[in-house]
Formats: sequence, structure tokens, C-alpha cells
Amino acid sequence: MRLAVLILLTLAACGGGNRADAPVASKSAVRISTASGPKANQLFGAKTTPSHQSPAPLGSYAKGCLAGAAQLPESGPTWQAMRLSRNRSYGHPVLVSYLQELSAKVAANTSWAGLYIGDMSQPRGGPMTSGHQSHQLGLDADVWLLPPRRLDLSRAEREKLSSKSVRSKDLRSVNGNWTAEHMQVLKTAAVDPRVDRIFITAPAKIWMCKNARGNRDWLQKIRPYWGHHYHFHVRLKCPDGASGCVTQKPTVAQLSKGGDGCDKTLNWWVTDALKPVKVDPKKKKKKRKKKRGARDYVMADLPGQCVGVLKSQ
Ligand SMILES: [Zn+2]
Repeated sequence: MRLAVLILLTLAACGGGNRADAPVASKSAVRISTASGPKANQLFGAKTTPSHQSPAPLGSYAKGCLAGAAQLPESGPTWQAMRLSRNRSYGHPVLVSYLQELSAKVAANTSWAGLYIGDMSQPRGGPMTSGHQSHQLGLDADVWLLPPRRLDLSRAEREKLSSKSVRSKDLRSVNGNWTAEHMQVLKTAAVDPRVDRIFITAPAKIWMCKNARGNRDWLQKIRPYWGHHYHFHVRLKCPDGASGCVTQKPTVAQLSKGGDGCDKTLNWWVTDALKPVKVDPKKKKKKRKKKRGARDYVMADLPGQCVGVLKSQ
């Protein structure tokens, strides 16, 4: 049972679907359609190129789409995009610049050659046919926790190479793959004012809480979450002037602590959260019926402008 629960939670891991990090709902975004019709993830998943529109994130992180996406070049002096076959290296231009700049800083200040970049968004954002609940606006990106030693990987190597987990087998601490330089990378990523939050496995945050010196404000942006021990997930704020982008509400912890989140609630992730959950089978059934994920959405669930994004040349 414990395993099953963890798997379920891990599957949702790259999302904004958890309570604390759920996106702020807008009127259009909360409307759940009962209409039948093609699934939005199939429609967006079939698009292979961005729309010819001005860049605009439309909707919320786990229910929206992206007009006028930019593509992260497959390789650069300090990065490589991984798993090219997925065609998920698109984002708002601000995200593309952010990743390029972050990788350059990492290469300059650590022993890492740069960064391996995992999934960003589909060419027109939107819900995906597999994986993430979020990553729909072009403002989310997964960055591998594997320190790149070389940045000349072939396409085939980028399909085959795997990242390495930084978490111990008992899920309670970091393992030998985690280094002080990982914290430096995370800190560099988090201090950027464009960043809203970063998801990473709780043991990594616990380690950073114990070991971070100097100004610790950046730790507030580091959010413990299930999964995220092979990569961390950066989420940017809505860019200036992006009126169709629904910003995310600060979490309770953020408001009440105003600090680094290195408190008792953090320990919950490696203690009580790992205890087996007793679930009443009847209740579970009811709950499951109500819950619809990003993969169930039809176009009517998304902001109206996403129809235009889909139709655009
Ligand atoms: Zn992610």
C-alpha cells in the first residue's frame, strides 16, 4: 500500500496539483467541462511546432497553454537538452533565457560543465499525454541532478543516459550522489528574481537547511515534493505584462514563516509522510471519481484563447 501511494504521488510530482502548490484558480480555469470531445492533451500533443503568435502563457501552470513559444537550442556552450524525441524543449522566451543564463553561471562557478535540461513544455504548451500535470504554460522546466561531465552527447546518448537519484533508498536522506555543489546549483537557480519556486525531494531541502550559510532567503523558494530526486523542477513567475497568465498563490508556509521553510513541517516529509496510509476503500472510490487530472481535460476546460493557440499556423 505504501508503495502504491508513493507511486501515485510521484506520478503527480511535476505538477502544481498538490494542495500547497495548487495554482490560483481563475473563473475560466476552474470550470470543469463535462462535454465530450477530443482530449486536450491529444490535440496539444499532436502539435510539432509553436504557434506564430506573440509569446503568451495563457491560464495556470496545470491548466493552460502557451502561445508563441521559443525553443531551447538542442545544445549550447553550457547546456544540452535531453530526450529530444519527446519534443518538449519549448517555453516562454523568458524561460529559455533563464535556463541558458543559469547554465552559464553553473559552468562558471562549479565543476559542472553546465546543465542537462529535461522536459520543458510542448511546442504549444497544454496538457501532456504522459508525465507532468503542470509544464503547460512554458514556465516550468526540469533540470537534471546529474552533473554534466561533457556537453557533446549525441541524440542517441541523450535518449539513453539516465540521471542519478540523490536520495537514499529509505527515502529519508540524501545519498552519495548529492554534493555541496548541488546546493550551489540550487541556490543559483533560486536567487533569480524570475523564479517563483523550485521543487525538489525533501531530503535535499533538509540537507540544504542544515548546511546553507549566509543569506538563507533563497531557501524559501525551495519546496519539498514527492519525486524530484533525479531532477529539480524550476517554475518561473508569470512574466511582466502576461495578462492571461494566472499567478500562483503563496503557500501558507510562505506567508506565516516569511522565511526559509526550514521548520518542523519539513521533517514531516521524511517521517509521518512515509508511514503507510490506511484508506477506506469506499471513500477512496468516491474521491477518485471526483478528481480529474490534466489528461482528462477537453478544450472547454482550458482558457478560451487556447483554441486560438491550437488553430494558429
Ligand atoms: Zn517538472
